[in-house]
Amino acid sequence: MKPVSLQVAIPERGFRWVRLDGKGNWVLADPPANWSEEDHVAAESDEASRWGEAQNYYLAAASNECTTGTVALLNQPDIYLFFTVARPGPGTILRYANLFGLLGSWDSTGQSVSVRRAKKIFSQFDWGAPEHPRYLQIQLESASTWLLAFAQTRTLVSDWSRLSERGEIRRAFNRYKAGENDEVLELLNKTYPLGAGNLTFSLGFDSQGEIAAQVHSSSLRDLLRVQFGLAVAAGTSHRQCQECGHWFAVRPGLGRPDKKFCSNACRMRAMRKRKRSG
Ligand SMILES: [Zn+2]
Repeated sequence: MKPVSLQVAIPERGFRWVRLDGKGNWVLADPPANWSEEDHVAAESDEASRWGEAQNYYLAAASNECTTGTVALLNQPDIYLFFTVARPGPGTILRYANLFGLLGSWDSTGQSVSVRRAKKIFSQFDWGAPEHPRYLQIQLESASTWLLAFAQTRTLVSDWSRLSERGEIRRAFNRYKAGENDEVLELLNKTYPLGAGNLTFSLGFDSQGEIAAQVHSSSLRDLLRVQFGLAVAAGTSHRQCQECGHWFAVRPGLGRPDKKFCSNACRMRAMRKRKRSG
């Protein structure tokens, strides 16, 4: 089967950081270069009460028109690996949003914003309306939503590889048959509850003009789960680079199965270090 593609909606003018201040006004403002310690801890522990500034910053679509007029379909097999980066800063989040769109579907990210409360940024955005309406429907997603998505994807990849290294994935089947509870089954139920994930199917032409089955994900958030699921179902394992700490995929039959580094650059760097110290 072909990889699942994503319906990407990227505004013609990209996304911008805006801040919702304490009085409910939307202000154009860049976040600090990095999120605070408390924001990263809140993302890891998924505790809403502990967020710092990350919950006041939002990615806002700078225009309501998308690049293609409708949506672009993006075929890339391992976007989920992008989301395993530890401690992503605002620059990384903005870059990914401009590449892949928001985590939620275009429809689900729409929020009604009072024009009066967004007056200061109104002129710099193209929200498809002159000044007369009092409210506008614009696409917004908070930075905390993004930090959560990174933390959850990273945890999923690392939990799964820890369990598979200990042989737990194989053993889980016997417990499943015996009706026993199990860490693997719990992880599966939590990550893939029944009815989760929104995929659509269509028949269309591939690049050679042949009729091909096409599966699309309607949101980036769904795509991350589906891509990870398809990868491990195909026997892919994941490892953390011994040099830089990035997670990378080891696909069966491709490259060395005992690969320790994410890239040649990291392998060379580790080698130079070893030479220097030895
Ligand atoms: Zn590396």
